[in-house]
Amino acid sequence: MTPPSPAKRRLAVMTSGGDAQGMNPAVRAVVRTALHYNADIYAIYEGYRGLIEGGDRIRPATFDDVSGILNRGGTVIGTARSLEFRERSGRLKAVHNLVEKGIDRLVVIGGDGSLSGADLLRREWSSLINELVETGKIDQETADRHPALMITGLVGSIDNDMIGTDMTIGADSALHRIVEAIDSISSTAASHQRSFIVEVMGRHCGYLALMSAIAGGADYVFIPENPPAPGWETHLCAQISNVRASGRRNSIVVVAEGAQDSDHNPIDSDYIRQVLEDRLGEDTRVTILGHVQRGGAPSAFDRSMSSQQGFAAVEEVLSATADTVPSIIGVQHNRVAKAPLMESVAKTHELASLIAAKDYDTALTLRGDSYTELSHVFHSISHALPGVRQKTKSSRIAVLNVGGLAPGMNAAARVAIRLGLHRGHTILGVKGSFAGLAEGDVQEMQWGDVEGWSSRGGAELGISRKVPTVRDLYAIGRGLETHGIDGLVIIGGWDAFESAHTMWRERDRYEAFKIPMICLPASIDNNLPYSELSIGADSALNLIVDSIDRVRQAGAAQRRAFVVETMGGNCGYLALLAGLSGGAVRVYLHEEGITLKDLSVDVERMVDSFRAGQRLFMVVANEKASPMYTSDFLCRLFEQESQDLFDARKVVLGQTQQGGTPSPFDRILGTRLAAHAMDWISNEIDRSRADNAVIGTINGSVKVMSMRQAEDLADWENRRPLKQWWMDLRPILDVLAQRLPVEQTR
Ligand code: ATP
Repeated sequence: MTPPSPAKRRLAVMTSGGDAQGMNPAVRAVVRTALHYNADIYAIYEGYRGLIEGGDRIRPATFDDVSGILNRGGTVIGTARSLEFRERSGRLKAVHNLVEKGIDRLVVIGGDGSLSGADLLRREWSSLINELVETGKIDQETADRHPALMITGLVGSIDNDMIGTDMTIGADSALHRIVEAIDSISSTAASHQRSFIVEVMGRHCGYLALMSAIAGGADYVFIPENPPAPGWETHLCAQISNVRASGRRNSIVVVAEGAQDSDHNPIDSDYIRQVLEDRLGEDTRVTILGHVQRGGAPSAFDRSMSSQQGFAAVEEVLSATADTVPSIIGVQHNRVAKAPLMESVAKTHELASLIAAKDYDTALTLRGDSYTELSHVFHSISHALPGVRQKTKSSRIAVLNVGGLAPGMNAAARVAIRLGLHRGHTILGVKGSFAGLAEGDVQEMQWGDVEGWSSRGGAELGISRKVPTVRDLYAIGRGLETHGIDGLVIIGGWDAFESAHTMWRERDRYEAFKIPMICLPASIDNNLPYSELSIGADSALNLIVDSIDRVRQAGAAQRRAFVVETMGGNCGYLALLAGLSGGAVRVYLHEEGITLKDLSVDVERMVDSFRAGQRLFMVVANEKASPMYTSDFLCRLFEQESQDLFDARKVVLGQTQQGGTPSPFDRILGTRLAAHAMDWISNEIDRSRADNAVIGTINGSVKVMSMRQAEDLADWENRRPLKQWWMDLRPILDVLAQRLPVEQTR
């Protein structure tokens, strides 16, 4: 094996420990980014075991080797647990194999164990190299070429158990599997009036249990960081009895596999079943989800975030020197971020020690603000039962949807309604948006009316896109007065924002508008200026990515170029993220437009790629990317210029993108925002204030801002935010999709 020239850096990527969906997109991104930076990239097969075995287990990876793996679960380069790597003798063999191939940079994708192992290898590197020289296994020249090992970690673990990253690779997909299971179980449980106990993975981390309990509308959850005191059986039974007395036909209890009480007595699913059967006479069944949670295709989030992380990991490891403190590349506040590797591992171990020492408050704090917050939110929702009211002053709050459909709207409405009732308010459901309010289609909502809404697509309260004109305002004002409405919760997209904005501007002319109003962002377009993410966008993205997978499969038999058209209006979020998660070669966005020059370059690339043996060319176009070069036009152009090498097909997903079951993320976001919105509106009413506000997430935290602030963040003409954070991801798609350095192709 010829050593690389001094300028040519050589790195390797490996997966280790338990597999997780999203590892393949990360491997793909590492390989392609390395090639983009003109580095040599190797894949190590079967984790540390392969590293120790060497030979064919460590081989160069090409651009095409990682084609077609983006949508595959597990890890195509294999993973293993290796006892031998825990021994110095094993690590000596590993170093020998690496230097023989001229590799001294490593991207390791795995859990805290795998990352600790990598760091140990890094720390021992020079002494292991010396030993190899002394024993004549390598010569001094080889040793001198590799004075240090540079490592970067990506955290692959479905449990989301690592401190230093908000999300580990695989956790979102595992949550999809669990919530799908809870949805299925709920329907059968309700048919038979049964209770179900669902056990999910998570030895020290209750993330999967807590989030699936929120998304699945469960009644009780057991997580290791917030254990109940001994004697919890009484509380559980009282809670389940109350739920049944409220008219719910089933109950769901979610248990993390590491659940225990505050005295460290394990809480076992079977024991919970026994308690419910013995004390309440409930027909109770246990479902232990096990490896199903690791399976299936990675979610859209796991594909796009792992791709971004793989990209960042290569930049990090290539720029590292012997003195660089190794990092993990993770996620913080919805952006790729790095954290010191060993500090993250140490904090992760510290959390387990805190639980062992019964210091649960600190353990929960270490998990981060949103985890703690969502643990409180779950507690509030599960205790918001009829007959338990927090206050006596009754205000009348109306909830309505406005705009296009967005999956997760129902989850938000359900939480707003139940928490509102719990606070002692009268909650009115307005059917059919503002027109319904004007026409008096208003109904008093009861606790049981929203049963099962968290998993339902569509809009149970009805919806209309109509933005009130100045002429409609009088009727809306009268509707507000007739029903004595003291506060308004508006769930919707740009139309909702614009309607609320109009009412805010006209408040001096209409006394009825001087009530607190709050807008929750719900739009698949993700185009609202007051929230980085809106309810519905993640579900739409998953649907588009699933459709791209199907199109890919169907098209693989022929040589074909596809133009997949996504919704989004003038906002390219869906198109770009779907392109990144679906492995598109090219995306067209309204923000960038399409020029004739672009098209000529793209056609040339397309023809070249088919000539080189490619069977498929995937293009994702935003519906408004260009008024002239429509998807239809693009298709005809590609076909015309195909030189008979391929044909072209248009796939317009249309309204399907607004339908379907909401994703776990959208249900959780809807829940979180609705809980905060209800707090805000109750406070406003208590203080006799009448602000107009919007609520969303900024930098991962929930933020309420005034209509005046939101107004300034909006690009009113294009109906999108002035600043679109996700445009920073644009170059990554180009790197992952193209064989040549970007500047040579664009
Ligand atoms: P998961 O979260 O899925 O368990 P993990 O990476 O933590 O993933 P481990 O079994 O702890 O999984 O580690 C995987 C491999 O990493 C081990 O089999 C071993 O080869 C190596 N490894 C783990 N910890 C160490 C260590 N302290 N020293 C050396 N090698 C280690």
